[in-house]
Amino acid sequence: MGNAAGVLLRQIKIFTTESTESTEEKGLFSLIAFFRNSVLSVCSVVNCFRIEVMDLVLDKFHEECGVFGIFGHPEASTITQLGLFALQHRGQEACGIVSSDGHDLHQFRSQGLVADVLSEDVLKKLTGSSAIGHTRYSTSGKNTIKEVQPFSVTCQHGDIAVCHNGNLPYAAEKRRELEQAGAIFSSTSDTETLLHGIARTPAKDIYEAMQKVLKDTEGAFSLLFLTPKSLVAVRDPRGFRPLVLGKLGGGWCIASETCAFDLIDAEYVREIEAGEMLIIDENGLHSSMPFIEKPVSVCTFEHVYFSRPDSTIFGRSVNESRHKMGKRLAIEQPCDADIVVPVPDSGVSAAIGYANQSGINYRQAIIRNHYVGRTFIEPSQSIRSFGVRLKLNPIKDLIRGRRVVLVDDSIVRGTTSKKIVQMVRDAGASEVHMRISCPPTTNPCYYGVDTPRKEDLIAARFSSPPFKGGVAAASADGVLGSVAAASSSGIVGSVVDVQAICSYIEADSLGYLSLEGMLEATGLDPATSCTACWSGRYPTLIANGHNLEIGS
Ligand code: SF4
Repeated sequence: MGNAAGVLLRQIKIFTTESTESTEEKGLFSLIAFFRNSVLSVCSVVNCFRIEVMDLVLDKFHEECGVFGIFGHPEASTITQLGLFALQHRGQEACGIVSSDGHDLHQFRSQGLVADVLSEDVLKKLTGSSAIGHTRYSTSGKNTIKEVQPFSVTCQHGDIAVCHNGNLPYAAEKRRELEQAGAIFSSTSDTETLLHGIARTPAKDIYEAMQKVLKDTEGAFSLLFLTPKSLVAVRDPRGFRPLVLGKLGGGWCIASETCAFDLIDAEYVREIEAGEMLIIDENGLHSSMPFIEKPVSVCTFEHVYFSRPDSTIFGRSVNESRHKMGKRLAIEQPCDADIVVPVPDSGVSAAIGYANQSGINYRQAIIRNHYVGRTFIEPSQSIRSFGVRLKLNPIKDLIRGRRVVLVDDSIVRGTTSKKIVQMVRDAGASEVHMRISCPPTTNPCYYGVDTPRKEDLIAARFSSPPFKGGVAAASADGVLGSVAAASSSGIVGSVVDVQAICSYIEADSLGYLSLEGMLEATGLDPATSCTACWSGRYPTLIANGHNLEIGS
């Protein structure tokens, strides 16, 4: 603590020679400075043993948000809390609810998990029979309370609140224009620009104003608006992100995924169509398709990883898709092994499919801790795979001496996969073979998903551009060759060096599911599905690496 004493002495010297504050203020500042610098000094002592803050979010793409809304239910805010709880996997950083009592909107927003912050006391204040809610995983804009949705304003069209799942790539540009015209924003979120647009748009009513603004809005959006007397659901014309309609008693509910309906015992009715605007008020449902039609492009990754396996997305069971991906993976990328082990939780359905198809025994030999937070301090380098072992722990008795096929849904940077392979080896596996239930992830997403930059994606780093032609098959053994991550247009693409990735993660072999195999397993129509993060074929034009332009 000699360092701390030195710091204190220096601090005292600063205050006695430079400060012009009163004696009391000097004393207070000195005390504050002492505590602050003492903490810094302790940190610096610990640092001698290497202090490292671990980001324990596993190396995955992250869905940015989940939305839920209800109209015509006496316990609207409580039902919304439950709906958001079921959608917690789509965003864990913040959540909020806005309710309507038919006259006024009532809002609560907070950072934290649904179960922690949406308490009984909070819900009691969110009165009324309609509500919308949001769970957030921040990427667009900063991560402060100001960014937490739903946003609400009062404007010429009355009170309105909004929450959003997706990405509005032109929002920054629009925001600059509005700010130059004198608009004041309360957050850095792209979604707030929509409210400004609606507030400034002359129209006969709020719905016409919404239509006018959204007609000119490019991007991925599954939106819920709440007015004192209505709930409005809107899905962008390409339909990137899911949005489903359900019925609960005499009321209606809308959610990002059907798993929210199961919890509240609501009946699944249908998807909100791509390009649909659905107004729900006391007279029932009013559906329209007010936007310019565009080629539909639903996100295939929802079936691979984002959505819960107990959800039905884009008309198809997510669990069924993942199970079929696993079966197809076993056909395309067979392996001589003793046990099939999933990387929990998202690898489970595919691993069961792989085991069923291959006849190799399925074993849940890695256990996931669901209660771990985002950050921990790594005590020393001598503890191997510390970060990953906080989340995942192997059952040594099941693994020791066995040849293991590890099944995971994707490899993003490769860092976590490397640690998991090592962890399974340390548990005594004689061989570790990695199988991935989608193709190599070579491109970032611009449609409402948090992804690393292209240069950080391991499959992009181990690619050789440019590739011309369709999707190439893996090498003869189907495992260690090159896989083409080509656009289906055959214009842009690259050849992924799977062997190099295998060497990086230190597995005995590595095999990916093909693009065709994945699409076939999901049952999605390739013509209406986005596969850009694997194929490089973006359904819209991408400008400057981050902007989106209107595509064909
Ligand atoms: S690029 Fe397309 S398929 Fe990939 S995550 Fe984004 S929307 Fe989904």
